[in-house]
Amino acid sequence: MEEEIKKPSRVFFLGAGASFVDGVPLQSQLLKKCFELIDKDSFEYTQIKEFFEVFFNLKEPITGNDFPKMEQLLGMLEMPKLIDIDYPGYSEKRINEFKRIIFGVILKALRKCSSDIKKSYNYRFVKKIKDNLDDFDEINFITMNYDTVLDDSLSLLNTLEKIDFGLDLVNYYSRYNKKFPLEKPMPGNIHLLKLHGSISYRYCRVCQSIELVHTDGDDIFDQSFCSIDGTPTEILVVPPSFFKNLKVPPLMQLWIKARLMLMDADEIYFIGYSLPLADIPVWQMLKSAELARPNKKVIVVDAKGKKSGEINKRYSQIFTNIEYLPIGFESFIDSIEKYLM
Ligand SMILES: [Zn+2]
Repeated sequence: MEEEIKKPSRVFFLGAGASFVDGVPLQSQLLKKCFELIDKDSFEYTQIKEFFEVFFNLKEPITGNDFPKMEQLLGMLEMPKLIDIDYPGYSEKRINEFKRIIFGVILKALRKCSSDIKKSYNYRFVKKIKDNLDDFDEINFITMNYDTVLDDSLSLLNTLEKIDFGLDLVNYYSRYNKKFPLEKPMPGNIHLLKLHGSISYRYCRVCQSIELVHTDGDDIFDQSFCSIDGTPTEILVVPPSFFKNLKVPPLMQLWIKARLMLMDADEIYFIGYSLPLADIPVWQMLKSAELARPNKKVIVVDAKGKKSGEINKRYSQIFTNIEYLPIGFESFIDSIEKYLM
């Protein structure tokens, strides 16, 4: 597994700010957006309403400020599994059902927000990197986002087969997976490590495999089943917070790969990632990376006009050689060749 990571020199590390420019709502706005988009007569709507009523005492009409934060909601859904405990009257099975429905709705909302990939900033971003670098095929991306704007942009440029998600996907073994078989990427391909999972990942708790599913069909609400053993699978997404369930083995593998990748990097570009104080696993990972090979070139792209310097200060506690650019993702894309030297 280690040999797949071949002396990467550049790593692009993306946070919520990089998806926000393409219409993906920030965590705090996401649930509100979903609730607006969903058909009030649908089964999904009644399920989500029940969940909000029981777990957040929310009754209609729910206004913008009443919605829980995404990380709060994910935390409530993940905690029982983390400490192996059930809510009274709400078994793990029922919680998983909520999770599947809520994520189905989120997925639909995300798809509506970013339907035209070719016009997206993410697409322009990867296209520009490709145009400016000879070794585009060996570029490394790490993202904290579980939407698929970056995946879709990369696969438009380079086909899905050339993306190494750092996971041993079930899709690679087509004798199991008739629906969506993929060629296993060769070593030295583009890496895209999605550290918080993805709305396109389905995890089987029996064989611990992950399947990559299409996110462009209308059957996204359907329960999917493991192609190996038939067990109902779960959408693999972890909360972007302190309560990360990183004990899922394939996810642990991803974090190990990300750590190695960052340790080995000469240059790291952080885009739209605010390095939240609660994100201890990331702080630890980045500090290890810097200690392993100090004085890396680090570029931090922050939102335009941010002058508080708060985020710059956080990065300065980890790295020594930082160029802080409060110019926004859009302007960074425009001038990216300046920084790719
Ligand atoms: Zn399985």
